[in-house]
Amino acid sequence: MSRKVTIIGGGPGGYPAAFILAQQGVQVTLIEKDKLGGTCLNRGCIPTKVLLEASHVLRQIKTAQRMGIRVKEVDVDYSILRKHKDNVVESLVKGVEKLCEARKIRVVKGTGVLETLQSIQIRESGEAIKGDAVVLATGSVPAKIPVPGADGPGVINSDQALSLVQVPPSMVIIGAGYIGLEFAQIFHGLGAKVTVLEMLPQALPNEDQDVANELERALKQEGIQVLTEVTVKEISGKEGRKKVNYAAKGQDHTLESALVMLAVGRRPNTEGLGLEKAGVKTERGRVVVNPFMETSAPGIYAIGDAIGGIMLAHVATAEGHTAANHILGKRHPLDYKAVPRCIYTYPEAASVGLTEAEAKKKYGEILVGRFPLQASGKARIVGGSGFAKVIAEKQYRGIVGVHLVGPHVTEMIAEAAAVMNLECTGEELAHTIHPHPTISEMIMEAAMAVEGYRIHSL
Ligand code: NAD
Repeated sequence: MSRKVTIIGGGPGGYPAAFILAQQGVQVTLIEKDKLGGTCLNRGCIPTKVLLEASHVLRQIKTAQRMGIRVKEVDVDYSILRKHKDNVVESLVKGVEKLCEARKIRVVKGTGVLETLQSIQIRESGEAIKGDAVVLATGSVPAKIPVPGADGPGVINSDQALSLVQVPPSMVIIGAGYIGLEFAQIFHGLGAKVTVLEMLPQALPNEDQDVANELERALKQEGIQVLTEVTVKEISGKEGRKKVNYAAKGQDHTLESALVMLAVGRRPNTEGLGLEKAGVKTERGRVVVNPFMETSAPGIYAIGDAIGGIMLAHVATAEGHTAANHILGKRHPLDYKAVPRCIYTYPEAASVGLTEAEAKKKYGEILVGRFPLQASGKARIVGGSGFAKVIAEKQYRGIVGVHLVGPHVTEMIAEAAAVMNLECTGEELAHTIHPHPTISEMIMEAAMAVEGYRIHSL
């Protein structure tokens, strides 16, 4: 008899797990209360990248004069751009629906709640779905902050920012993480005056300091204000005329803007799932799992943002793959050492492995090779600013971190992830022939610098 698996949540964690299982003859039921594709397709990665692409194209048009290309007038019809974004999202959601159909996955629209270890109840219809295993892939929701006025009118989160029908004239964004910086560039590109307020000493606090400094510098140069080490004290005023009171270096300040956006992180969406009753252990809202994605309750797995950790779509997919494998009897624990992290601003940033500070702390002695983007031939052609930095530990000279800032670097970081997974040394990467002229050469040059020699930089 074929096995039955129920998956709650059809995002980039849940649906790949469903596909892998279905292809191996498992009868899969995928429960989704909203649209297939989850946050990534509907409210995250995809729509934001459509808008960022539009702002990159706009930037290119505006800077095309350096090549003698004159464009007299440029403007953006935001209603068309929004439709374009919605069309891209819709086509991808339909693609996932079609793949579910082709793989004979039963998709149930509704909210799944754990009843017993083997049974899920659909809250809206009362239907009970029984199976041999359950995968929880319920994602995350935008986090809030305990600041007076943070839930008032005109204070939006990233979901609401994506459905604005008009570009606001000005916006204060609280939080200079991935969401804060990407949205800052989206709305700045569309004509809003944007200020970003970050409580910690650097934007992107979990990233390498050089990466954060380079992005902060580039954003400021474009006209986006990024203020770090500030404490937001109160948000007041009505929509269209908001006031944000904050303290910096012991002094109080007030910023006025049409809208305020919170980009202060996301939290696992695990409330009301019946976890406690089913004996699924949680820790501050996140489901606790082992390296095979098994929870504390037998036969129940959890993946993606619901388990916290690195909340990225591709990590959720890898976790879905790991859980599906385990259900199929293949034991491949997930190793997080080489997870690529990308930020799609201009310039783009992409990293894998340890930051320089983390590498120093872990290994004591490290080797750091740098290469400035300006020294790359291809960079002179396409423009932009940035660098490559390769970090190796000194004992075996193994690469432990790679950090890139520049054009198209999000397309290049998978090379560094492969190199780290294969436990390559700086010398091995330096001897890997990279095509010329490409921006990717800067990875090879930074690896050479790890070993103490250089070709195109001093
Ligand atoms: P984040 O954790 O990356 O950044 C939140 C920022 O808000 C941090 O810098 C934090 O210090 C700051 N902050 C928190 N409270 C604050 C306060 N009271 N005042 C001022 N600053 C405050 O979270 P995010 O940017 O909201 O993104 C949420 C999740 O979505 C993350 O896990 C992220 O990885 C993911 N995401 C990824 C991408 C991408 O891969 N390109 C893009 C968007 C979102």
